[in-house]
Amino acid sequence: MTVKYTVNHIPRTTPYNRRPGIAMIPQYLTIHSTGNLNSTAQNERTWLTDNPQNKATASYHVVIDEKEAIEVLPLDEVAWHAGDGNGQGNRASIGIEICESGNRQKTLQNAVKLVAKVLKERGWGVDRLRRHFDWSGKVCPRILQPDNWAGWERFKKDVQKELKPKVVKTKVIVNKQECDAFIYEGKTYVEVRKPFELAGFKVNYDSKTKQTVITR
Ligand SMILES: [Zn+2]
Repeated sequence: MTVKYTVNHIPRTTPYNRRPGIAMIPQYLTIHSTGNLNSTAQNERTWLTDNPQNKATASYHVVIDEKEAIEVLPLDEVAWHAGDGNGQGNRASIGIEICESGNRQKTLQNAVKLVAKVLKERGWGVDRLRRHFDWSGKVCPRILQPDNWAGWERFKKDVQKELKPKVVKTKVIVNKQECDAFIYEGKTYVEVRKPFELAGFKVNYDSKTKQTVITR
């Protein structure tokens, strides 16, 4: 199950320099929470472009809630989210805003999936994850802060779990006899000898070429 992901970039003309258009080679992922219990991902996207009350030079890359993720800036452009000026937080990290509205557990599950996906696409591990707090000392993501950041540690563990390739044990049945097997990334793997022999083939392993030859 994947989370719905919509690209809806704010224009370069967005006021208060929220999309400076500065190229970025990301090195980190920075996690935030919105600090607003009522605001959904859609609300957050709207706030950037369609609310004259918003006078902040503040932006981010992706916002996620219990239902969906919205990418508001290309992931290779600078956004202003880390509070560290021209430091690595703003200039070299992808900012992900976790909504505080709705079903918290579902939202966090979605965020774990999204973060794992972004890490995987880049061949990165959880060592690339940062809190807003790490860049500027702001208590953010505040929803993961209670109990001395216990939620943050759990979040990273959950992402780590999601990154691990999943191996599921199964059986391959040949002429009603079971062979141990496993499923990995949508394919079933089995030790080659047993099922073929059960099916009446001859199996020869050539130790020189390290090839297995199967004949009738
Ligand atoms: Zn933040």
